[in-house]
Amino acid sequence: MQQKLAGQVSLQDLSRISPTIRRQNHPEFSDGSRFVVEVGNVLFGSGLPVVIAGPCAIESERQMIEVALAVKSAGADMLRGGAFKPRTSPHDFQGLGLEGLKILRAAADLTGLPVVTEVIDLRLVEQVSQYADMLQIGSRSMQNYPLLIEAGRSGKPILLKRGMSASLCEWLGAAEYIASQGNLNIVLCERGIKTPTSGEYSRFCLDLNVVPAAQAETFLPVIVDPSHATGMASRVENASRASIEFGCDGLMIEVSAWDGASATHRPLCDADQAITPETLSRIVQFIRDRKGFEDATSSPAIPLGSNRQC
Ligand code: PEP
Ligand code: MN
Repeated sequence: MQQKLAGQVSLQDLSRISPTIRRQNHPEFSDGSRFVVEVGNVLFGSGLPVVIAGPCAIESERQMIEVALAVKSAGADMLRGGAFKPRTSPHDFQGLGLEGLKILRAAADLTGLPVVTEVIDLRLVEQVSQYADMLQIGSRSMQNYPLLIEAGRSGKPILLKRGMSASLCEWLGAAEYIASQGNLNIVLCERGIKTPTSGEYSRFCLDLNVVPAAQAETFLPVIVDPSHATGMASRVENASRASIEFGCDGLMIEVSAWDGASATHRPLCDADQAITPETLSRIVQFIRDRKGFEDATSSPAIPLGSNRQC
């Protein structure tokens, strides 16, 4: 028998790692349905994919309001925008902080769309909770356990992005930290992972296989962020459609009003992956025109082999 290394976990360990959110432990979800997470009037896991859209970072009131109005008319259900940005370099734009949160709230109130924004530090959970309808835990923070606990305690719905090198077990373990605080309002978000080719011809590798795999192991809704996964605006529409075909419960997409050419108003953060409102409206239309969502969510979840290492 092959010996296990210390700390090595496999999907069969999920009963121990994430019992609270595990589909197999909850007979009421044995039909493949999801736990429905409510954010204002937006329902994740109800059968119809949710579209969250907005800029990578909130840069000014004018920029945020312009993008918010544009994504609302394109048919998005929710707004996004970072006020606290986790950047690779401390010399890059870090976000507007509290001022950004206030702008985001104003955009939410103006459009009537709920907002999600990232919280990068447990000391900021209370402040961000005052302005946001949903808290985002970013890829870089997925294994910041004190932050997960504090976010769970806030009682706010949580958007938990997958760590860029995280296995499914580690991702579900992170979700369990939030659930362990009595908060089941968790939406998982695949956002691309590191592979040997990351950065060569795409920013990350969009792991669509993880969508049905996660849905088989947990009843929580699973959405996809095609923007960070590809890093290229020209690929976001196809990646969105592919994600929908893989049965995801929604999309989170970066949008800007930038024309892609002029030097002015180029987003300070992730400019090359931001799509236009026009492209967003085609994605929304694709979802609206597509039939069979109810069938997708009610099909029985097929558990994965239990001996896979992760
Ligand atoms: C984001 O969505 O703004 C973001 C920083 O994404 P990620 O944490 O997936 O890199
Ligand atoms: Mn971004």
